[in-house]
Amino acid sequence: MTGGAEAFADLEARRGDFPALDQEVNGNRLVYLDNAATSQKPRAVIEEVRRFYERDNSNVHRGVHELSNRATLGFEGARRRAAEFIGAATPEEIIFTRGTTEGINLVAAAWAGRHLRPGDRILLTEMEHHSNLVPWQILAARVGAEIEFVPVVGDEGLLDLSGFDARVRGARLFACTHISNALGTINPVKELCARARAAGAVALVDAAQSAGHAPLDVREIGCDFLAFSGHKMAGPTGIGILYGRRELLEKMDPYQGGGEMISSVHFEHSAWAPVPHKFEAGTPDISGAFGLRAAMDYLDAIGRERIMAHDLALAEYAYARLAEIPGIRLLGPARGRAGLVSFVLGDIHAHDVVMLADRVGIALRGGHHCTQPLHRRLGVESTVRASFYLYNTFAEVDRLADVLREIRRYFSR
Ligand code: PMP
Repeated sequence: MTGGAEAFADLEARRGDFPALDQEVNGNRLVYLDNAATSQKPRAVIEEVRRFYERDNSNVHRGVHELSNRATLGFEGARRRAAEFIGAATPEEIIFTRGTTEGINLVAAAWAGRHLRPGDRILLTEMEHHSNLVPWQILAARVGAEIEFVPVVGDEGLLDLSGFDARVRGARLFACTHISNALGTINPVKELCARARAAGAVALVDAAQSAGHAPLDVREIGCDFLAFSGHKMAGPTGIGILYGRRELLEKMDPYQGGGEMISSVHFEHSAWAPVPHKFEAGTPDISGAFGLRAAMDYLDAIGRERIMAHDLALAEYAYARLAEIPGIRLLGPARGRAGLVSFVLGDIHAHDVVMLADRVGIALRGGHHCTQPLHRRLGVESTVRASFYLYNTFAEVDRLADVLREIRRYFSR
């Protein structure tokens, strides 16, 4: 069997915290390798959401009764916890969103929509998720801005940074994913944000794939904005965080209008609430915030350094095991990759691989993973992705490799 199983025995013991992992799918024990799409949830998170609904359920902020106080304290406590989780200077720099997608749309509408002018440039990379591409296309069409891209080189899937300084010079905004959900590439966001900001651009980091997998410190990274989703880091769906530097948040338009985001309303006009409430119109996902706080506590009790070391070891092991399969084409860096492996298995369609793996209880994902332009650039229509989290084991990687070999044999008969 395996390389590092003993070294990560403490994490493998955590599997019992995740009820959804304890089931059979199609007659086999579930092997859940679709964590880049969404992670499973530990009992601590599920129970916190349930506890909120059973004891504290009330709307936040305006109430004076006991339950409303508890809901407000918990909700604002989660904001403070999120600030601490990512090293923000103050909780006012934390905006609750529905997830990464909404966070980026918020910046596009409320910051870029106000500050960008016709002819202004936005710099992205070729490996962005559609969530960090389409909002900029919509915004660019609206204000007459232009979008340029940092290229990705070869199957290794690294950014070509040779012309970066020239490209970013004069750009108003640079937005980049921390970890590629399609390739597993870990981008040097600290260096890129420093170079972008030195050139006068505002820097946004898409941390959807990194927030629950690695230590994250917005002041160390030096970004202006950073967005992530709760559901990819052991938290509930429907809740996410947008971090924004206060100075920028103060100079932004509201994102949506409605209750909660105002200080006073007249028939003719209104005045906005201070940040961050200016950006949180309507009743927020209160139970989600409670659950997200429980997820952050859960991850930090293990240690994000430890989770990262495990993810990396597992991905490296998977890359080596899968590379032994005849005819497989692996995408993304061979070493130093995040906890996922993407590949094309000969000429077998990705959906066939995923469907056959599902028949024996292995959950994979096949398709373009919301990175169609990147797939076109790599010359593939779709790929299969196995993505790991803290509870995945080296034995599961062995099982994946065995099943992929069987699928390959089946198709080459
Ligand atoms: N960016 C990246 C890199 C992602 O992997 C994802 C989710 N696949 C998103 C953005 C979008 O996240 P959400 O759907 O939670 O808004």
